[in-house]
Amino acid sequence: MSVVMKFGGTSVADPDAIDRLIGIVRRQLHQRPERAPVVVVSALAGVTDKLIEVTRQAEEGDAARAGAALLALLDRHVTMAAAVAPASATALQASIRADFGELMGLVHALAVLREVSPRSLDAVLAAGEVVSSRMVAAALADHDIPAAWVDARSVLVTDAEHTGAVPDMDGNRRRLRDRARRHVDGGEVMVLGGFIGATRNGVTTTLGRGGSDYSAAIFGAVLDADEIQIWTDVDGMLTADPRIVPNARLAPQLSFAEASELAYFGAKVLHPSTILPAVTRNIPVRILNARRPERAGTVITAGGGAADGELTAIACKRNVTVIDITSSRMLMAHGFLRRLFEVFERFRTAVDVVTTSEVSVSVTIDDTRRLGDVVDNLRHFAEVACEPDMAIVSAVGENLRSDPALFVRAVTALDRIALRLVSQAAGRRNITFVLRDADVPEAMHRLHEAFFAPAAAIEPVSAHDS
Ligand code: ASP
Ligand code: MG
Repeated sequence: MSVVMKFGGTSVADPDAIDRLIGIVRRQLHQRPERAPVVVVSALAGVTDKLIEVTRQAEEGDAARAGAALLALLDRHVTMAAAVAPASATALQASIRADFGELMGLVHALAVLREVSPRSLDAVLAAGEVVSSRMVAAALADHDIPAAWVDARSVLVTDAEHTGAVPDMDGNRRRLRDRARRHVDGGEVMVLGGFIGATRNGVTTTLGRGGSDYSAAIFGAVLDADEIQIWTDVDGMLTADPRIVPNARLAPQLSFAEASELAYFGAKVLHPSTILPAVTRNIPVRILNARRPERAGTVITAGGGAADGELTAIACKRNVTVIDITSSRMLMAHGFLRRLFEVFERFRTAVDVVTTSEVSVSVTIDDTRRLGDVVDNLRHFAEVACEPDMAIVSAVGENLRSDPALFVRAVTALDRIALRLVSQAAGRRNITFVLRDADVPEAMHRLHEAFFAPAAAIEPVSAHDS
């Protein structure tokens, strides 16, 4: 099969972004003229957030404000349609007006009822992807690229879990393959909105925020795509947060598990769970920068990972609190750990790193809102000491599983920095250090020097697709 190309909100934000998209799709088509790509798009940047705001206004019964906000959105789309598809602007604008007409009727009804159910919310939010995908299909066609708009709701069938629907993969496989073959084999780019689907009965659903990546992975998986490209506004995943390590560089390859570890530390490029359908079918997912399409990006695969003897990336989580809990009975009695973790559970406080010794347990937490309650309750059966202003620094790499020298190198790099806790979890894809928050820049810098050859600085990144 061909490739699936997903363009996030910032990659369809305005006429310039659409121009870049056209250039990127054209290049792909030149490379493989006999296999047209499948294009999946998000709503224009900011539109989903705006539509959520509109549903809040409807809930408050403020039909006037909701209506005005929708008119402003309509205006943005109509103006953009004229710019990106001048030859077919009239027809495109007519369908956009029709979509918005329906949407306004729906929102007005919701404002009268002052109630927005998850099902109604999906119907409202879906409009963003419906109109953006229509616009991209028209813009491609207008620039002599054969393209067909396909309503994603007619091919992506999901269950009825509104706002977080789950696709029916087997059913979708049949439906989509038939549909795609007609377009792709005929050299025609199929354009669909991401994030949206419909139940078997045709009721509109959405896959949850950020769901366009998920759509792209689903389409890629059922079509057995060669590759899924996620076009966004950053070069890919980096070896470290460039705000802390200015000479961080691109991580060219990641395994799926590494990507998940990094997402946990706040790497926001994409949520790895959304690409799972593709990764489990061994379809590589490549993150690419629509502003710098010549760059290779980061490719995520099931096996992935860095070359032998290398780490993949380093990451950190700042401002955590360490809690040392020592059993008041000298040895850890039977049931001690259970009681201890029950306290954290009762006060809904997630624990990150855990280390244990014979008489004590140390944990780190990030959310300290219930710290007072946690400590009071732990003191019923243990001595407790807290240390704020700490941080977690983690070195991530599949190679840590097979190469013990990497561990030694990491610890050596941190020479003379006080390490409060060190741990390596069962997966052994990371080594985690807990240290003083003030030492984070030095620690990250030294680890980066030790494992990643210096490279040109990456330009600071700003906006992100949500
Ligand atoms: N437009 C949707 C959102 O903002 C889906 C996506 O962009 O992935 O969450
Ligand atoms: Mg996104």
